[in-house]
Amino acid sequence: PRSGFCSSNSTFYSKRQPFSLPSNPCLDITTFISSYPHQGKIAFIDATTGRQLSFSQLWKAVDSVATCLSELGIRKGHVVLIIAPNSLYFPIVCLSVMSLGAIITTSNPLNTAREIALQMADSNPALVFTTSLLVPKLAESTLPIVLLDEQEIIKTSTSEARIVATVDQMMKKEPTGSRVRDRVYQDDTASLLYSSGTTGPSKGVASSHRNLMALLQTFSIAYNFNPDEGEQIHICTVPMFHIYGFGAYAIGKLTVGSTVVILSKFSMDEMLSAVEKYRVTFLPLVPPILLAMVKGADQIRRKYDLSSLQSVLCGGAPLSKEVIHGFLEKFPKVHIRQGYALTETTGSGASMYSPEEGRKYGTVGLLSPNLEAKIVDPDTGVALVVNQTGELWVRGPSIMKGYLNNPEATASTINSEGWLKTGDLCYIDEDGFVFVVDRLKELIKYKGYQVPPAELEALLLSHPDISDAAVIPYPDEEVGQYPMAYVIRKAGSNISDTAIIDFVAPYKRIRKVAFITSIPKNPSGKILRRHLIELATSKI
Ligand code: AMP
Repeated sequence: PRSGFCSSNSTFYSKRQPFSLPSNPCLDITTFISSYPHQGKIAFIDATTGRQLSFSQLWKAVDSVATCLSELGIRKGHVVLIIAPNSLYFPIVCLSVMSLGAIITTSNPLNTAREIALQMADSNPALVFTTSLLVPKLAESTLPIVLLDEQEIIKTSTSEARIVATVDQMMKKEPTGSRVRDRVYQDDTASLLYSSGTTGPSKGVASSHRNLMALLQTFSIAYNFNPDEGEQIHICTVPMFHIYGFGAYAIGKLTVGSTVVILSKFSMDEMLSAVEKYRVTFLPLVPPILLAMVKGADQIRRKYDLSSLQSVLCGGAPLSKEVIHGFLEKFPKVHIRQGYALTETTGSGASMYSPEEGRKYGTVGLLSPNLEAKIVDPDTGVALVVNQTGELWVRGPSIMKGYLNNPEATASTINSEGWLKTGDLCYIDEDGFVFVVDRLKELIKYKGYQVPPAELEALLLSHPDISDAAVIPYPDEEVGQYPMAYVIRKAGSNISDTAIIDFVAPYKRIRKVAFITSIPKNPSGKILRRHLIELATSKI
């Protein structure tokens, strides 16, 4: 049954047209994507430099970089880290790495050297792609580095011995027959993006080539849904190290054949100038930026010609009805669509494909094609029915293989029947639309970035003046949520809240501290965050 709800086993089925996946088990994602050549079209434009990359230049660059990586000894199963802002090079690097059967892993360039070192210890990369500005954050590492800088690197006796090349240099290499092609299977791991999941610190989410193919097939259906909207020009404002930018933009539009304008770093002015200059039709955002557009709407409309804009896609965190209404009032010709996804579902989840669907406020859309869902009572484990709220479980071809090096976290997230527990409290209505009500899991989302409270708690506990700590999300209109810490000082300490605030990396910064005499915990020592959230928000 493909229409909404099947009552026999309380399973919801996607109402979308299903897609098929290639039957050949031996196929990597890069080969799959390159079978859609889109000759003569532009794949990417760098919004800052204006540099363009046609589809044929892209595939030539991918072959050249893959040849160089192969010569550097990169083989199937090796992990390659990219830690860089968005650029034209980002997709080239990811596609080259995955074409060899090697695994691409990403890190937020805002992470501290310590956080990067921890992630590297977990994923064990063989090589790093980064920019010269970020090299100092890799001080602890001896790995070979390839730079994504535009300018040539001139080797001198005092220059970094670890830097082996730039991507630009690699792109000039003629692909020789020397590229070693291991047999790559659809089920092999292709990407390793980091997410904290429902609990604990960040973990490597192992997505297979097939998981990524499922995501791209979903996009093919989504963007062929409204043929009268014509060719779309997208702008990538979201970071490519996160599934939103990686799945939807570094690789996501290549099978569809749309042009993607790349913004290296978010700036409202640069984004709007690029929309005007490149006649962008499709703008993906996170809620805080949509809110900023609503607040600055009058000035924005005076300053920029946004007449090309057809749709805004908002995802990554909840969007309030007030903001939706505010946006539609100020930009009546632009459709708002929402999307809901997880790193663990390789970017699938639920989304709106048409302006009609976008008019259904409060929903994140219909379940993605080929996904099944259950709504499960988090206390009793009983599967619920239409319009009842419980934890959303999903199953389908885009669900990750599991967490790297962490069978326990994998087993508690994906059950033996293949259902992935999202940690989100949702309901599905009689028409099959998904509504996100609350987040059950401990994850904090600051401007769409993941901030795992467990990591901040571990960091706070390493402070000599702190004897115990608990971190919770604190609601904020501008940024969604920010981390708030409840802290117990060590006897004799009078550490201040500002000293605690200054202790953490910028985008994870704790912006509010309260001192407390005991942290509420259950008998097994698990922090009762709900208690603290109620305590913190009761004082608003
Ligand atoms: P990430 O793996 O970083 O994409 O985070 C996934 C989580 O972000 C989900 O489990 C939700 O808690 C939240 N999320 C993503 N999209 C939405 C949305 N449209 N509405 C509400 N929450 C969302």
